[in-house]
Amino acid sequence: MRTGILRALFFRKEKESILDLLMEGVMVLDGAGVIRYVNRAFAKLISLSRSELLNSSIALSKKELLVRIHALMTLAQRQKTIITDSMTLEEEQTIFLDLIIVPKQKKGAVILLQDKSSQHQVVEMGKEFIANVSHELRTPLTIIRGFAETLQDMPLLSRPMVTEIVEKIVRNCERMNTLVKNLLTLSDLEHVPHFRFQSCDLAALVDRCKDLLLTLAPKTQIKIEKSKESILIDGDADLLELALMNLLENGVKYSTPPAHLTIALDHKENNVIIAIQDRGIGISAQDLPHIFERFYTVDKSHSRRLGGAGLGLSIVKTIINKHEGTLVVASQPGQGTTFTITLPCSRH
Ligand code: ADP
Repeated sequence: MRTGILRALFFRKEKESILDLLMEGVMVLDGAGVIRYVNRAFAKLISLSRSELLNSSIALSKKELLVRIHALMTLAQRQKTIITDSMTLEEEQTIFLDLIIVPKQKKGAVILLQDKSSQHQVVEMGKEFIANVSHELRTPLTIIRGFAETLQDMPLLSRPMVTEIVEKIVRNCERMNTLVKNLLTLSDLEHVPHFRFQSCDLAALVDRCKDLLLTLAPKTQIKIEKSKESILIDGDADLLELALMNLLENGVKYSTPPAHLTIALDHKENNVIIAIQDRGIGISAQDLPHIFERFYTVDKSHSRRLGGAGLGLSIVKTIINKHEGTLVVASQPGQGTTFTITLPCSRH
């Protein structure tokens, strides 16, 4: 008899510790709506301790979640069916919950709570992304259409006027093209397979980027400081070139010409450190934490004039993350900005 009770107790404890490992909240109510069991996740979601919840009656509670559970439990018992529902809780932060109420055969119910906040966040981010893309595409489209209609309605415009309008149309087409190209790059980056990674020499890559930048902005002053003539990492050379070029081009875009840039390449223990420094306009402390966010621009009209839509740095960050590296920024308004990339050295 005694061993039977002990065994039952043992199994009960084991079941409870398994329920405590779950991410979902679990609560068991008796027929009178008194809480007979509650797991750790449930107590955390409702911001109460287990001792506060155990043996209390949900019918007497003023907590929004327990009031809702009470109403749903009554309904589930009356209809003798499982009920599912969703609700938003305003605790320290907003929590999106799915509730499942399973009536027990002999009165009472088992309640399951699932925190859907992260899925909700993903959906919201998707919506925000589409809204941003639509906005960024609509602006140049509206400009192109306006100028095209001007050309259509005024066939006798002077030659210089026509040239000016056509230039504006072409510039806005280029802006749309850059935006679409950047969006496709971001989407491709999600699926870059690791087998594309090969041994590449960062010292040579930096030289190549310097030459490329000088063809785009010939007056730029670029200094390269290297600790070694060859520094190998495992990576995708095309993507790394894209990341470095984005940072270098920003150094030019956000400096009064001629831009002064320094690329310092160093290695410490098992890491390579690339610092790209400019003496440009700098970034204020309040903008600094946001510049890697998609579509974030400090000065929208300035970025637009230069053909940017705030995607460049998020592309750089994604590329560096793909290479298991880090990207940090330090800046002083009016003095300049330094982006520092740290990447693991080649393992071979
Ligand atoms: P954008 O297309 O606007 O250049 P980015 O994602 O490349 O987009 O950069 C985001 C914002 O960060 C820019 O709008 C700019 O204000 C700021 N920024 C980026 N690089 C620099 C830099 N080297 N110096 C000053 N500001 C910079």
